[in-house]
Amino acid sequence: MPRRVLEEGGFYDRDPRDYGLRVAVIYPGPYEAAVNSLGHQIVYYLANSVPGVLAERFTLDSVGSVESGLNLREFNVIIASLHFEGQVHTLLSMLREAGIPLRREGRDTPVVVGGPVTANPLPLEGFADAVAVGDGEGTVQEILRILLEGGGVEDLGSVEGVYTPGGRARFRRSPLTYLPEGQIRARLPNGKQNPFLLELSRGCSHGCRFCLLGWTQRPRRDRPLGQLMSQVELAKELGFRKVYIIGSDVLGHPKALDILQRVIDEGLKLSLPSLRADMVTAEMAEVLRASGLRKVSLAPETGSPRLAAAINKRSVLEEILEASELLKAAGIRELKLYLMVGLPGEAKEDLSATAELARLVKSAGVRVELSVSQFVPKPHTPLQLAPMARPDAYRSGVRYLRARAGVRVKAVHPGRAALQGLVSLAPRGSSAAVLEAAEGPYRLSNYFRAFARWGLNPERILYGSRDAPWRDAVDTGVRDEALQAESERAEAGVTTPSCDEQCWGCGVCPLSPHP
Ligand code: SF4
Repeated sequence: MPRRVLEEGGFYDRDPRDYGLRVAVIYPGPYEAAVNSLGHQIVYYLANSVPGVLAERFTLDSVGSVESGLNLREFNVIIASLHFEGQVHTLLSMLREAGIPLRREGRDTPVVVGGPVTANPLPLEGFADAVAVGDGEGTVQEILRILLEGGGVEDLGSVEGVYTPGGRARFRRSPLTYLPEGQIRARLPNGKQNPFLLELSRGCSHGCRFCLLGWTQRPRRDRPLGQLMSQVELAKELGFRKVYIIGSDVLGHPKALDILQRVIDEGLKLSLPSLRADMVTAEMAEVLRASGLRKVSLAPETGSPRLAAAINKRSVLEEILEASELLKAAGIRELKLYLMVGLPGEAKEDLSATAELARLVKSAGVRVELSVSQFVPKPHTPLQLAPMARPDAYRSGVRYLRARAGVRVKAVHPGRAALQGLVSLAPRGSSAAVLEAAEGPYRLSNYFRAFARWGLNPERILYGSRDAPWRDAVDTGVRDEALQAESERAEAGVTTPSCDEQCWGCGVCPLSPHP
């Protein structure tokens, strides 16, 4: 167990000698982040639900497995969840430090990876024997059963949603019937306890054109009210003090208000991701205040109506002002706005509109903070071919906002954004470069050098014209023509209605009207 944890509950306490297949479930990051990751915990519980399998967790700061301190080399299979591009580098460092060969050829221990980063499996081919694309429910158990029955890594490509090097996989979507019977509850030395993680829905109906999950995880799937209510009861029973709500558009759940109210009635605190401004009503603001929330986050991405249309976001100035008023009236006076700089076609007027948005919200009597990130094109989205802004252009956009918005501005480092871009947009043949870069530090210059040495042009991948080779490796169900049409609408600044208003036949849903 990492030294930074005083006490843990919810884990499996088993004797590793009794199990035929020992599975290491890795979160490539600190323990404190792992206990806040539902994806990581779902894999842990799914793996342990397979008869004959013992799964134990590993984090960057655990000495051996969290449960029993065993070395990674003592496990027969490694499964890792990759939520952010930087975790590829961390995972490779963890494997290397444990003495596991990074290259898959000749290695005895199969390495399976899953999570949002796998939407482009091409840079992972050098070390991953199998890449789970999409939801892990079903996939994890099927992979482990094959290995338990003596199958090899060459058999894993037959599992739905599994990509093996050189193959093609269809994105797997779960009906969200499964939820683990427990959750890891950790008491940390600073007196903090991790929250219970309550996933309301997966996917999103709104089709924001930059959003990876909006395009790979569509259509939106809501968990039923009964299941969610029992989860709130479970949180209480297990001794959690806070519930963190998970979902791309949590207030879009048809029973959102009832669920949040139930959390409060059970005496639990609430924590929420960013909300849609148009869903903040007076009643909702009151529930949020009653939950003890002092700050609410909204994600307009831009204050410019022109850019908002291009990325298929509602033009939200009035809605944000209205939401600010409602929140203020309920007693919530702090607002965080998530914004992007470097969107395709961005001009000074667009940044000026964003600064104006911040000023107007502040003048409504609310404390505002801007959290700025750089636009990074993501695979399988309508903006997958759009060039990224160069670091200087991004820096100058952030400087402009700092000078004009009149509020606190926190901004992501452009080097981090470029690294994210390089891994998420990496083409065929990039896996050797990623393995080589993992020998050095997680720095852009190191990755640029490694990519160049393997004959790839990182400048072109990030800032020039690129292809979309991940479309041949992963079938998300969204038709190429639909993606192309959306990309043209982005250029023309035309919005597309959400799936709740009108299905426009992207191809994912079986009853889509335009097959
Ligand atoms: S098929 Fe229609 S309803 Fe389904 S995700 Fe695509 S646009 Fe939305």
